[in-house]
Amino acid sequence: MIQNAETIAAVATAPGAGGVGMLRVSGENAGRIAQTLLGKPPRPRHAHYCAFRDAAGELIDRGILLHFPLANSFTGEDVVELHTHGSPVVLNLLLQRVCALGARPARPGEFSERAFLNGKLDLAQAEAIADLIASQSETAARAALRSLDGAFSTRVRCLLANLVDLRVYIEAAIDFPEEEIDFLATPELRARLAAVSEELSRLLVETRRGVRLSDGLHVVIVGRPNAGKSSLLNALAAQDRAIVTSQAGTTRDLLRENIQLDGVLLTLVDTAGLRESADLIEREGMRRARQELERADVALLVSDEAHLAEDLHLLGPAQSGQTRLLIGNKIDLSDAPPQRRQDSAGIRIDISARTGAGLDLLRRELKSLAAGGDSSGGGFSARTRHVLALEKVAAHLAATEFALLQQQAGELAAEELRHAQRDLGELTGEFSSDDLLGAIFSSFCIGK
Ligand code: GDP
Ligand code: ZN
Repeated sequence: MIQNAETIAAVATAPGAGGVGMLRVSGENAGRIAQTLLGKPPRPRHAHYCAFRDAAGELIDRGILLHFPLANSFTGEDVVELHTHGSPVVLNLLLQRVCALGARPARPGEFSERAFLNGKLDLAQAEAIADLIASQSETAARAALRSLDGAFSTRVRCLLANLVDLRVYIEAAIDFPEEEIDFLATPELRARLAAVSEELSRLLVETRRGVRLSDGLHVVIVGRPNAGKSSLLNALAAQDRAIVTSQAGTTRDLLRENIQLDGVLLTLVDTAGLRESADLIEREGMRRARQELERADVALLVSDEAHLAEDLHLLGPAQSGQTRLLIGNKIDLSDAPPQRRQDSAGIRIDISARTGAGLDLLRRELKSLAAGGDSSGGGFSARTRHVLALEKVAAHLAATEFALLQQQAGELAAEELRHAQRDLGELTGEFSSDDLLGAIFSSFCIGK
């Protein structure tokens, strides 16, 4: 365990007034600071009720002092927690006192960063803490907790171990050039490589799902003007009591609404209508609509129920990983029943945004998409960074396969596997640049 010589301190509770507030101190001086405040050596993990005083002996507040020595603390350093009344003024006075006694204010995420550097948790777990704190739905919170418990990291480590095995196996073959070619062509090696690739594909699917679990499902609503896009957004948002936020988008042509469907977060984006030839402002709106369309998890094409087929082209080319739902709106006009069907064009749901008929079918569909087809709700949380790293690993594995099976080039294959290993190690932080760590931890809140 590395005890950082610089002792850091920060208010760990949320800014503003609250019932209680907590100041956290970590590092070499933490124990001594606690002893000064308490007037005697604190007992480990014992709640001391004490008077916190400033340098002049004047009372700041009374509260609880807790000391967590070295190995058992969150950061892996000496940690002291000071609990007071939740007044920003009191907490600030106490922070000043603690800093005068040998600490400095912590940077955002610095406690978690020290926990990571001391091996108390890996990088993906540290990220899960931030995701748990930022979670906006029950599903997201549970998924983040599973990642914090190591559900994601364990899978990454397992894959990493298999990659290393494979590389060692290939490198052993390279050392015996006279047998190398035969060795590299063994079914045993092919089988191992295939097993690793399969495990990686599974992990990628689950990791993409993990991003949706934490960020929510991004749903974009497109269609020609007057199809009923805004009405649908309002109907979905209004029907659900739990609107998290509602804000105008980056342009007046995009409207974003975060809603929860039974604990699952959805970001709905209403776009400007799509149609040919329009004035400049409208064209800009359409450009943004297309941009949203490209990055959404789900695209809802809304159209008059009778004209749906004519509007299919508005969706443009299919995006990988995106689900498209065709929404036949305004069934109240023809007295058609709400229904869900699946044909060659995809899944189609007939609704009326005006009467609300069929909305339950749509909500059910969106919910199951958010869960990624996994109704057990047992997934872990993940970030886009993780997906990108895994995609790099997948590319290196494909190159490994090519080098081995097409070129019989063991050196090349081993080199590709080394790259794959490094990209995979970025997830848990085994290989990570200072830039990456800085970018990750600086996005945390202060005191965490
Ligand atoms: P947008 O331009 O695609 O956003 O369409 P709007 O939501 O603004 O709706 C355009 C017009 O269609 C409005 O007059 C709505 O009241 C009407 N409308 C929307 N949904 C329905 C529906 O389900 N049934 C009927 N009869 N009218 C609808
Ligand atoms: Zn509209």
